[in-house]
Amino acid sequence: MLSIFVVLCVPILGAAAVFIDHRPHTVAIFPKPSSEVATLKNIRVAFDRPLAAEQVRVTIEGKAGDAAPFAIKGSVHVQTGNTINFAADQTLAPANYHVTIHAEDKQLADWRFTVADTPRNDESGAPILIVGGDASDLNPYYTEILSAEGFTGFKTASKSEFAKLDLAGIQSIIVSGDLDNSGSARLKEWVENGGNLVAVMPTGALADLAGVKALSVINGEGYFQIDTGSAPGKGLVSQPIQFHGDAKRFAANDDARVFATLISGPDKSTSPAATIRTVGANGGQVAALAFNLAKSVVFTRQGNPAWAGQDRDGMAPVRPNDLFFGNSKTDPQPDYLDVNNAQIPQADETMRLLTNVLEYMQRDASPIPRFWYFPKDYKAALVMAADDHGTKDGTRNFFEMLDLASPAGCDMTQWTCARATSFIYPDSGLSNSDAEFYNSIGFDTGAHVTTNCEDWTRESLDNSIAAYLSFFQVRFPELPTQRGSRLHCIAWSDYTTQAEVERSWDIRFDMNYYHWPKDWLKNKSGFMTGSGLPMRFSKTDGEIIDVYQQETHLVDEVFVDNLPAVEELFAKAFGPEGFYGAFGTHFDFNNDFAPKMIELAHKWQVPMISAAQLLDWENARSHSQISDLQWGVQTLQFKMQAAPATGGALTTMVPMRTNDMVLAAISLDGKPVEFKTAEIKGVQYALFPSANGTYSIRYNSSFSADETGSVSPL
Ligand SMILES: [Zn+2]
Repeated sequence: MLSIFVVLCVPILGAAAVFIDHRPHTVAIFPKPSSEVATLKNIRVAFDRPLAAEQVRVTIEGKAGDAAPFAIKGSVHVQTGNTINFAADQTLAPANYHVTIHAEDKQLADWRFTVADTPRNDESGAPILIVGGDASDLNPYYTEILSAEGFTGFKTASKSEFAKLDLAGIQSIIVSGDLDNSGSARLKEWVENGGNLVAVMPTGALADLAGVKALSVINGEGYFQIDTGSAPGKGLVSQPIQFHGDAKRFAANDDARVFATLISGPDKSTSPAATIRTVGANGGQVAALAFNLAKSVVFTRQGNPAWAGQDRDGMAPVRPNDLFFGNSKTDPQPDYLDVNNAQIPQADETMRLLTNVLEYMQRDASPIPRFWYFPKDYKAALVMAADDHGTKDGTRNFFEMLDLASPAGCDMTQWTCARATSFIYPDSGLSNSDAEFYNSIGFDTGAHVTTNCEDWTRESLDNSIAAYLSFFQVRFPELPTQRGSRLHCIAWSDYTTQAEVERSWDIRFDMNYYHWPKDWLKNKSGFMTGSGLPMRFSKTDGEIIDVYQQETHLVDEVFVDNLPAVEELFAKAFGPEGFYGAFGTHFDFNNDFAPKMIELAHKWQVPMISAAQLLDWENARSHSQISDLQWGVQTLQFKMQAAPATGGALTTMVPMRTNDMVLAAISLDGKPVEFKTAEIKGVQYALFPSANGTYSIRYNSSFSADETGSVSPL
């Protein structure tokens, strides 16, 4: 009691200042002490009072393993008086870091954190090679597309590296444009020896090899229609879907089979969009695409970069939907997203065209195994996410409702617990003890950052995120730093700055792309981004930002009175359309959308997960690896390394047929493995849980597997 009395009295007495500790005290630290983060450049500390900027000294020492410690250089600046920001000169490499901050001749902060080591892609025995074109063609995005599609065995090389690269073990190559003479000659010889090539907008010698002639350049917009009558188009969407970016008008030679048609121009004239040609007598094939598939996937997902920063719909602020909205008052143009196609995941179907082509070309050789999108055999999931605008008990009731809806003994890694994220305002009524309790059972809470519904600059957005992360840490000191975000009013002032700024705060899951407004989207559910899959953002210069774009597909104000539209989304994920997806949601507790969605999720058996859970899943899946592929006459062997965080729920898919044989048996380290079969996008696959070890997949011409996976003679 006495000490409290003294402290309280000192300011009143206005004397004995020597007893008061004048040091500023930390109120928020990023990255949090003892935390583990992905690579970043930002280190930030907020104090309880202003500091003299010129006196601040930050030292950062890194240490990795047994190597000698190293110092990190960077610049220090003090923001808004109370906050020190240290920006490292380069992205911090995986290591343990020790930060100390001195000012006014005193040590003010001293903490440690770890930048996690990202497992390197094991390229040994990788069957797919991506030969890089110009980054401005967004060629780097092929790696993101293959990862999303569950391929892990791929490597990349520049066009100049290709000349010297050992092609042993490479079964499929993706290349954009043309190579130099020696590169083209090498590729031709490789195809004649049985290699399979996907040539994207080929010219010159590669166009000759593909059996097409490039006639003219098409001004980047139009549709393509897949021939779904037979492989590789079988199982994909049959209506014409959009492409964006670059395309060429092709003519196909007689020996090139056209399996997709490009439809472009005001007269809707047609030309081949995708062709396939057999080359030589050793099973080599060349597929040609008349459009830039990687760029089309990025632009379909992220919108028209030419419209970045424009308030096209006349409803401030600038939002993600403005990147798709055509009918601007000052610049009327067709919608970038044809809203009649918004019920089709156009970007996903475009990626699956590439997947089906890759698997189809391998039908006379080694099948390429890959991973299913979600845990186990889930075809749909709901990313439950609320924006709590300062309600008294909205978040608590929401979490409680979900916990009550969870079966006893549910398992987070298997997505059997109903969980959610809530992004909250500072004046939300969620108590600290409740927040800690819900965090301990798997709920995810973070700040609902706001720019007061206004357009932002990089700096103002950065300041807003910094301030809200600080507030959140002060209010809930024991909670982990958030890894997801949805900005209030979903203000999105350009093309990718928000994702870049989020990344600098270790926020790697963005839910700002939002299926809205209702009238524009004709009151239908669907995919504004053309996708049901979280995938990383791409800058227009080709750099991939390590932040997942997760659309908010199901917005409460749009669908609260239109539940049949929600069910349609589920029906198409489970039905013959195969429009699988992790569907983002938005709740703000102004209506009864949350209980209605929980009811529908039960009806359709759709898991309800938090944003953090889906990010964890994407991390675990992308850190899992199928490597060392070996193809014998009848047997495929490969090594499996499944990340521990997959919790045994990662499913591997292997095509059931190859070279007129049928998959007969699967073993792991010599022990038989049970498998299921399913048709996914027109292709029969065997599906089984991914466990560590060496798999052996035996194909047999006289046996076939039935639906339960047991083997029976034909
Ligand atoms: Zn909001």
